[in-house]
Amino acid sequence: MARDPRFDILFEPVQIGPVTSKNRFYQVPHCNGMGYGLPMGLAAMRGVKAEGGWGVVCTEEVEIHPTSDVTPAFEGRLWDDSDIPALALMTEAVHAHGSLAGLELVHNGHHSPNRYSRVPPIAPSAMAVDTYDPVQARAMDKADIRAFRQWHRDAALRGKQAGFDIIYVYAGHNLCLPMHFIAKRYNDRTDEYGGSLENRVRLFRELIEDTKEAVGNSCAVAVRFAVDELLGPDGITAQDEGREVVEMLAEMPDLWDVNVSDWSNDSLTSRFGEEGNQESYVGFVKSLTSKPVVGVGRFTSPDAMVSQIRRGVLDMIGAARPSIADPFLPKKLEEGRIEEIRECIGCNICVSGDMQCVPIRCTQNPTMGEEWRRGWHPEKIAPKGSDDSVLVVGAGPAGLECSLALAKRGYEVTLAEAGAELGGRVTCESQLPGLSQWARVRDYRVGRLQEMANVSIYRESPLSAPDVRDFGFARVIIATGASWRRDGLGRALRAPLPGLDQTTVYTRDDLMAGGVVGDHLVVYDDDHYYMGGVLAEKLIAEGHRVTLVTPAAMASAWTENTLEQHHIQSRLLSLGVEIIVSHRLSGLEKGAARVTCVYSERDKAIACDGVVLVTERLPKDGLYRELADNPDGLTQAGITSLRAIGDCYAPATVAAAVYGGHLAARELDDPSPEPVPFLREPRRL
Ligand code: ADP
Ligand code: SF4
Repeated sequence: MARDPRFDILFEPVQIGPVTSKNRFYQVPHCNGMGYGLPMGLAAMRGVKAEGGWGVVCTEEVEIHPTSDVTPAFEGRLWDDSDIPALALMTEAVHAHGSLAGLELVHNGHHSPNRYSRVPPIAPSAMAVDTYDPVQARAMDKADIRAFRQWHRDAALRGKQAGFDIIYVYAGHNLCLPMHFIAKRYNDRTDEYGGSLENRVRLFRELIEDTKEAVGNSCAVAVRFAVDELLGPDGITAQDEGREVVEMLAEMPDLWDVNVSDWSNDSLTSRFGEEGNQESYVGFVKSLTSKPVVGVGRFTSPDAMVSQIRRGVLDMIGAARPSIADPFLPKKLEEGRIEEIRECIGCNICVSGDMQCVPIRCTQNPTMGEEWRRGWHPEKIAPKGSDDSVLVVGAGPAGLECSLALAKRGYEVTLAEAGAELGGRVTCESQLPGLSQWARVRDYRVGRLQEMANVSIYRESPLSAPDVRDFGFARVIIATGASWRRDGLGRALRAPLPGLDQTTVYTRDDLMAGGVVGDHLVVYDDDHYYMGGVLAEKLIAEGHRVTLVTPAAMASAWTENTLEQHHIQSRLLSLGVEIIVSHRLSGLEKGAARVTCVYSERDKAIACDGVVLVTERLPKDGLYRELADNPDGLTQAGITSLRAIGDCYAPATVAAAVYGGHLAARELDDPSPEPVPFLREPRRL
């Protein structure tokens, strides 16, 4: 198919200093949990982005020196020449597809406690590191500043040697040293690097000059700068110092990559912000410079991208998450396959990999992070290994993904769903406050499945074990999901909750069905991801008073890994939700919930009209068990393989269900070898 001429503008080349991007698609730097630890996996992942058509593909943060060591996180590393070959793997993979490779050099100043290198951190002024490590940074003297400039210059030269085309001077986010100098609150120096904005910008300016001088003849020098920290007058704002910095340095770099800070605002989830939400902050930059401007905004709509260019907001469409959810987004647009784009849902599960120091994963793209170790490709999959027919039971994320991947392999797939609607939990949960975009998990897959001649979908078809045996399919996959427990069992409680018959108990499904009665509800969250918080929001929106109780030290504790925790707790408090932390639910009484402090064991009663339990889920594995426990029945029915996937196998995230579905499809004729089902990178001795 030919591409829609409306999108031609996105495929125009862009000159960036001495190099040229073949189009306007720019994969901005993004962390991935592989970094220096898993360079082969990293190179393969970046290579797939280039293959998918991104004109520029950047690294994540790449540490330039042991004084900036963010261990245990796996970022890039260019401390000395021995780090060059690992990064050269990435530039080769990117160049193989005619794209430019960008290197984000970083020094994290007092954001790096240097747990591995054990070097005291450095900062513009003496201050505590901004993690909770019991470590303080020392103030840099002039010799330190000279040394720092030299490290940066050396790293730029190493980057050039590794084959990079674009080298960054990085002051995006409030995590890095040049930004620490610029921000007043971190800089109380009285020399020429402190005081006036001009002085505070001096180091940033010098780094740009140094980098241009070192590598500028062959590499473009980009800056990443957060024009607004969303801290009001306490920080840099786009109205004053953010704007002034761009004015001062306007023509110095070859490219401006502009964003907002901190990372949780930059990578705002769809629960808290719309596509293109940074425009009101970064929109001024282009009016101040003739150099190309890149910005982000979880852009997945090509019309929104074109609009950014035509209205003079951006020159290049920056993307981290949209390129993770669909590395082939540019190719699909170029080839007129717009409806095949797998749109990011804005959940930040991708960030959780980096936060937990493991390879990146993605809700929408199960192949993300698996390119090297499992040899998975987002657009290619092995053809079917037999003519076996396959029955998939349950059309939630796991069943839909499994059906799609099997159908792409060429299998005849029958998908049976008990309900009238497809999508399982995402169809349900996308109706909860802030989660509407999660429906994209369903929409992308249902859209593809409906176009395929080898797929039959049956709605309102609850299947029993005899049904499954009678159909005569050779392969059966069970994806029947899970339901929330009604008995309070969870991490904090391993015996039945006393008094369950004393107060009305609700689960997510009851809330979705409506009919919650009473004024004051206690939401008990021992799940710690999003569900407790969104149910509290829903109840507030419906006019109830809500107290959220959690054994954790904060609301929705796991969402620290998706950069949402602060946003969630702030929102709940602003909505009037009372939050009681470090308490477990210990019993129910007439008109009250009894909660116990996890430290003191002191308990208290909270008067309420009902309790919403968000603790564990029970796999709906009855169908699977009934089939599996009767192997003779399977044999007689001609069923040669039976597999449970997704939440009915082990309840977890939507991302895990999609991944489980994809894995089962890839492994239909060739189950994983044990004990390690994927390649492991050799460790350097
Ligand atoms: P997962 O996250 O693992 O995909 P979900 O709970 O989202 O799980 O989806 C499971 C789907 O399976 C639901 O849409 C549910 O209606 C469907 N389902 C459950 N039991 C049956 C059954 N016996 N026959 C057909 N569909 C079923
Ligand atoms: Fe988007 Fe979620 Fe995938 Fe990240 S994990 S790229 S936010 S869909």
